[in-house]
Amino acid sequence: MASETQAQPLDPTAFRELAGSLQGELLLPTNPGYDTARRIWNEAIDRRPAGIARCAGVDDVVATVRFARERGLEVGVRGGGHNVAGTAMCDDGIVIDLSATRGVSVDPTARTARVDGGALWGDVDRATQVHGLATTGGIVSHTGVAGLTLGGGIGFLMRKHGLAVDNLLDAEVVTAEGAVLRASADEHPDLFWALRGGGGNFGVVTSFRFVLHRVGPTVIAGPIFWAADDTSAVLRFYRDFAAEAPDELGSVVRLGTVPPLAVIPESLHWQPAIAVACCYAGAVDDGERAVSALRRFGTPLVDLTSPVRYTDFQCGVDVSVPHGWHYYWKGTTLASLSDDAIAVIADHAYAAASPRSYAAIFHMGGAVARVPHDATAFAGRDIAHNMSIDAVSLPDEPGERAAAEMQWARRFFRDLQPHRAGGVYVNFLDSDDDSSRVREAYGERTYRRLAEVKTVYDPHNVFHHNKNIQPG
Ligand SMILES: Cc1cc2nc3c(=O)[nH]c(=O)nc-3n(C[C@H](O)[C@H](O)[C@H](O)COP(=O)(O)OP(=O)(O)OC[C@H]3O[C@@H](n4cnc5c(N)ncnc54)[C@H](O)[C@@H]3O)c2cc1C
Repeated sequence: MASETQAQPLDPTAFRELAGSLQGELLLPTNPGYDTARRIWNEAIDRRPAGIARCAGVDDVVATVRFARERGLEVGVRGGGHNVAGTAMCDDGIVIDLSATRGVSVDPTARTARVDGGALWGDVDRATQVHGLATTGGIVSHTGVAGLTLGGGIGFLMRKHGLAVDNLLDAEVVTAEGAVLRASADEHPDLFWALRGGGGNFGVVTSFRFVLHRVGPTVIAGPIFWAADDTSAVLRFYRDFAAEAPDELGSVVRLGTVPPLAVIPESLHWQPAIAVACCYAGAVDDGERAVSALRRFGTPLVDLTSPVRYTDFQCGVDVSVPHGWHYYWKGTTLASLSDDAIAVIADHAYAAASPRSYAAIFHMGGAVARVPHDATAFAGRDIAHNMSIDAVSLPDEPGERAAAEMQWARRFFRDLQPHRAGGVYVNFLDSDDDSSRVREAYGERTYRRLAEVKTVYDPHNVFHHNKNIQPG
């Protein structure tokens, strides 16, 4: 559903007025930086907003929201620009682009960090690790803090320290009315509840404050690769290993090919392989013990597990999902890694034509599952595994090639149906063929509660370029 305010024809002088009132830049299609500014991580997204407001701070966000509201313009909100669906960009309307606001300010005594709405997880990890601190973020350092957190936020530290939203203390929000609110357990608690999982539906978050924990700076972490032929055996072993793992041990399985990393022998690059990446959020000696059984399993192609700086580990796979490629994905939950589910996974995982396509399985549980279900709007607390199936193609490959990769992801997803746990992580939804899955992501009860909060803070659905919750 589009915004209910009727769009007015755009008056160029109005844009000049907006530009004059901003501290940051307003990029119009005639400006030299416009084409760069409308590009996001997923190069397949090719949208042309009428204007991109590179906001310098909260006042710029307020001015742009009001400007868009008054004219009934479409509104996109860009945090890290990393969402596969590309909802940060809209056609014709205006994009509130926070990419110029990436500050992170750490209070090492209180163990908290204030993070700007356009920051990336690499910014947070670098600033917090100076003090030997960290909070749960994503597994790729160039993912945005905002979009990831607002959808829940899963990552290697979650089993010990909870989701990103479980570590959120408060957020500064610009509402659809252009009001600036602080949402926390004490202030606008309904909004605070909805922000923790409900996505970008309720306003523009200009800053987040997170709890930090002692992590690293050196941790036991890294991926272990086995040949694709070993997939079923590795997954069966991993099923029991993960079930018994301490909360400190976060792990993600990646099925695809060996990425061409400098630390891996060239002869292995792009070979079909299953990898299990672990990160132990505790003492190095304990971490060595926690991963030892996995490291001894079978005959790994290469084992990169070692004591490593947490910040280095967190950007270890960045190059395997660079900006500039074309991406599409399907998200699902898995009830368990049953033998039947493993058979489907082994059957499909290496059937993609592109060596860049892959699937990732995140082990949930631990602290995530101990938070009461209705404490936040994140709906998947009792899920054993979250999975994304990622179809990747290069911009210069023919369209049929990209279409074939997408078909691979859809077939893989279809055949996993009997093994799904219900629901889906909202941040793993695509746009077009997934828009009807937003209710599925939350479940009826949480969706209804989110719709009530939406009705209070954004009754006209100004913020609908997202995994949209419709006002009641
Ligand atoms: C390679 C890859 C790895 C990933 N790994 C993980 C992972 O480990 N854990 C995980 O949980 N997720 C992961 N994700 C999913 C990720 O959480 C989402 O893609 C998320 O939307 C990215 O956030 P962003 O700020 O970069 O998004 P953007 O593309 O900038 O924004 C996406 C949407 O978020 C909303 N939004 C963004 N910024 C704001 C803001 N400041 N205020 C209000 N709304 C805003 C808007 O609705 C916008 O349309 C991964 C995605 C990819 C592609």
